[in-house]
Amino acid sequence: MTARRLTGGPVAQRIRAEIDDNVSTLGRRGTVPGLAVVVATDNEATLWYVRSIARAADKAGVRCTVVDLGADAGEDEIASTLTLLSEDEEVHGIILQTPLPPGAAVDELVARISAAKDVDGANPLSLGRLTVGQPAFAPATARAVVEILEHYEVPLAGRHVSVVGRSAVVGKPLLQLLLQRDATVTVCHSRSRPLERYTSEAEVVVAAVGRPGLLTGAHVRSGAVVVDVGTNVLDSGDLVGDVEADSTAEVAAALTPVPGGVGTVTTALLLLHTTHAALQAGGETASVRMSGQGASA
Ligand code: NAP
Repeated sequence: MTARRLTGGPVAQRIRAEIDDNVSTLGRRGTVPGLAVVVATDNEATLWYVRSIARAADKAGVRCTVVDLGADAGEDEIASTLTLLSEDEEVHGIILQTPLPPGAAVDELVARISAAKDVDGANPLSLGRLTVGQPAFAPATARAVVEILEHYEVPLAGRHVSVVGRSAVVGKPLLQLLLQRDATVTVCHSRSRPLERYTSEAEVVVAAVGRPGLLTGAHVRSGAVVVDVGTNVLDSGDLVGDVEADSTAEVAAALTPVPGGVGTVTTALLLLHTTHAALQAGGETASVRMSGQGASA
């Protein structure tokens, strides 16, 4: 079997069409959706990612402000910046980009982002609301996984999905989004041994770990659908996922590529969420699907 490539491009294109509609609606009301990205690092890969968000925002008609506090920013400075942005009416979405300077408590800081502007679902309140089925923005990466699966009409209801990785930004919110779609979910982590015991039974496997080659063809069953969230930069400079593509493609029915898979959709969703936040700030509630919540949410 050679797996079908589930690329993110067509999914992102559909999301961009929705962004265009929202930007037009907002424009008629005299509003430009605004996204603020707070950065406090000199990590080149992070700065590259932030620049790519800014470029995409610019193309989409979303005003993106990068607030670069520098790699030696203190926790107080980051906190007061987040509070100011939460109060700024021209800013509809806020992202606090990690990594942060040593000693800065990310959990305390993300709690400063007002829930209405938390377009990457970083505030623990957003995850809590998502868990109980209340409106909230899901982290864009977690939502990107379900958007890809739904776009390619991969059934989830009644299926077994194995998610490898339990972080607050990917694994845990993804568990909620999948449960809302009536999937049966196992969430694996570094103590799940042997990993293949869990992954090889699943119809859908999602890898969100950050280790190149962690999942191979030996970890998945024949005909499985595999989503690779991992982004790992090798010494050679190449970007690879967590899934060993060659061996997995021999066994799986479908596989998302890295690059060109989940990441492409994630950026589009950040901008979509920003337009939703702007619409909501203007009082619109009915047509805005905040988190990508499923029918049973
Ligand atoms: P993270 O916070 O480091 O979490 C990694 C998870 O993987 C943890 O739950 C950890 O388990 C688990 N893990 C580690 N080693 C394992 C092993 N040998 N077997 C099974 N599970 C193992 O990472 P993250 O922020 O969720 O990111 C995960 C990956 O996704 C990274 O490559 C990141 O770059 C990528 N990412 C991509 C996007 C995108 O848009 N494409 C966005 C965000 C993140 P424990 O909990 O037990 O430690």
